[in-house]
Amino acid sequence: TQSTRPQRLLSAVQKNATRGDPCSVVRAIDDFCRHKEWAMNVGDEKGCILDSVVSEMNPAAVLELGTYCGYSTVRIARLLPPDAKFITLEFNPGFAAIARQVIAWAGLEEKVQLVEGASGDWIPKIKEQFGIKTFDLVFLDHWKDRYLPDTKLMEECGLLRKGSVLLADNVICPGTPDYLEYIRSSPKYESRYFKSHLEYTKVEDGLEKSIFLG
Ligand code: SAM
Ligand code: MG
Repeated sequence: TQSTRPQRLLSAVQKNATRGDPCSVVRAIDDFCRHKEWAMNVGDEKGCILDSVVSEMNPAAVLELGTYCGYSTVRIARLLPPDAKFITLEFNPGFAAIARQVIAWAGLEEKVQLVEGASGDWIPKIKEQFGIKTFDLVFLDHWKDRYLPDTKLMEECGLLRKGSVLLADNVICPGTPDYLEYIRSSPKYESRYFKSHLEYTKVEDGLEKSIFLG
């Protein structure tokens, strides 16, 4: 067929999820990716860990690096307080266009600011452009070699405060060795691994939760 995987994922949402019901959107995507076509969403198993970190923190300002089709965006946005600021960054315009429709189907477009462009370009401009002081929570799930440089960039730009949480996906598979080594050995962070599995598989993967100590 001519359609792309993200387009087929969107069609599955439109067919199987209820408009305005984020949980049904999450379920429709998990069902499509588990039984039809694998896709690089954080997925249901690690998604539960993500949910508990978000719920526990009740963050007022959240940054997501890597939107793809908006799966984790919907998971996060559905748990945020009404006045929270939530920015998600995606540099692939085709993925961003699908994500906008997935987010809208979930009825969450008011709670999410999807910004198109590369993290390295946007991070230095975020404070000014979006009136953000610091982020309470950052979900890192873009290309794995960008976790470390973007973390250092967020530090330099003053986007982290004492107690800000970095939650990084795929630290084992595909893996982010330079990031893990930095975040676990730096006295600026208190870091913990949450063991799980790569989305829709039995392969080990996990999330690293790192608290910025200032
Ligand atoms: N967080 C999504 C989820 O769980 O549903 C999955 C994100 S996917 C693993 C990674 C995405 O990051 C891709 O869509 C890719 O285009 C995007 N990306 C990679 N590097 C980026 C960068 N430097 N800036 C912005 N987006 C980036
Ligand atoms: Mg991931």
